[in-house]
Amino acid sequence: SLRSSAELIRAEEPVLAHNYHPLPVVVARAEGAWVEDVEGRRYLDMLAGYSALNFGHRHPALIEAAHRQLDQLTLTSRAFHNDRLAQFAESLAELTGLDMVLPMNTGAEAVESAIKVARKWAYEVKGVAPDQATIIVAADNFHGRTTTIVSFSTDETARAGFGPFTPGFRVVPYNDLAALEAAIDETTAAVLIEPIQGEAGVVIPDDGYLRGVRELTRRTGCLFIADEIQSGLGRTGRTLAVEHEDVVPDMILLGKALGGGIVPVSAVVARRDVLQVLRPGEHGSTFGGNPLSAAVGSAVVELLETGEYQRRAAELGIVLRGGLTALVGKGVQGFRARGLWAGVDIDPAIGTGRDISERLMREGVLVKDTHGSTIRLAPPLTITGEELRTALGSLEKVLTEG
Ligand code: PLP
Repeated sequence: SLRSSAELIRAEEPVLAHNYHPLPVVVARAEGAWVEDVEGRRYLDMLAGYSALNFGHRHPALIEAAHRQLDQLTLTSRAFHNDRLAQFAESLAELTGLDMVLPMNTGAEAVESAIKVARKWAYEVKGVAPDQATIIVAADNFHGRTTTIVSFSTDETARAGFGPFTPGFRVVPYNDLAALEAAIDETTAAVLIEPIQGEAGVVIPDDGYLRGVRELTRRTGCLFIADEIQSGLGRTGRTLAVEHEDVVPDMILLGKALGGGIVPVSAVVARRDVLQVLRPGEHGSTFGGNPLSAAVGSAVVELLETGEYQRRAAELGIVLRGGLTALVGKGVQGFRARGLWAGVDIDPAIGTGRDISERLMREGVLVKDTHGSTIRLAPPLTITGEELRTALGSLEKVLTEG
């Protein structure tokens, strides 16, 4: 690059919408768990694209699948079939234990699609009166940024100024089965929750909550939709976070890592009797299910079929937990962790999450704050134990040296 990091950051200011507040680092190259800025400084990536880079930057098998497909066919639209989509859907259904796949592109699109499917299912199968279907969601949820999705957000920053909002949602406290049961009635199409709330700060529900949601939705005849867009695909030490409670939802939403950090790929994966409510013309996407996405998505599923990444997340998760436990009382007030994923509450006297993120950046470690004094650690699942210990060492340094 001909321009320095500082020049590139200044150049963005007048021409780029200010909907993000990035750390002042300009990444130009990356491999595995490492990124390199314009000046050649190297950083350990402990955010991994909000879990879109579970397999690290430019995983060789994923890059090869993308290259191979780029030389064959990139887009047909769903007006025609393409020769990659059947295998992608078959392998994803097999991986998740469900039947059918609706391929989309971004996470928010998968959520929107699931809402439409749940509503249609409620009218056609459950017999809810026209336009009366409700969907129950949890407080402090994060499911994306579209107008309908922010309609049921409880984060004022995400909502303010964007009304009027889409009706048909009820918000209950997370991790509260009694409140959920009280909110379900004959209009309920579905319960939509994150098995672990990522953006809320890696909030892990009590053991039994997901099983309870499964039993409650089955008993009352509504759908359980698990948004695994951030929690899924190896992050927690299992393929899906719901597996920690041996639960199979009616619909699973996947995104982020499904595209291997190369292309946006998301999917609604569901039982056949649910997803079959969609008929030709009722839903779609120009790019959804394109052959490049299908090829990369299939390669991602192949990586997960080996079990290696889930195993790494579980084993290195023990290192992560150990490192964080040692910091409790030394700048860390508390943390929540599962697999290679942690929300770490920093003593506010030491700094905001943003302050800590900036100090870690200067130590060569990239993280992102979630809210207040909480930072999220979510390294690529390909990170080595030594690299992980380096990052934890940098966190200790930043916390103890101020
Ligand atoms: N759902 C969850 C649980 C997420 O964490 C996110 C993104 O952070 C989304 C949905 C939205 O995904 P996207 O940004 O690809 O629209």
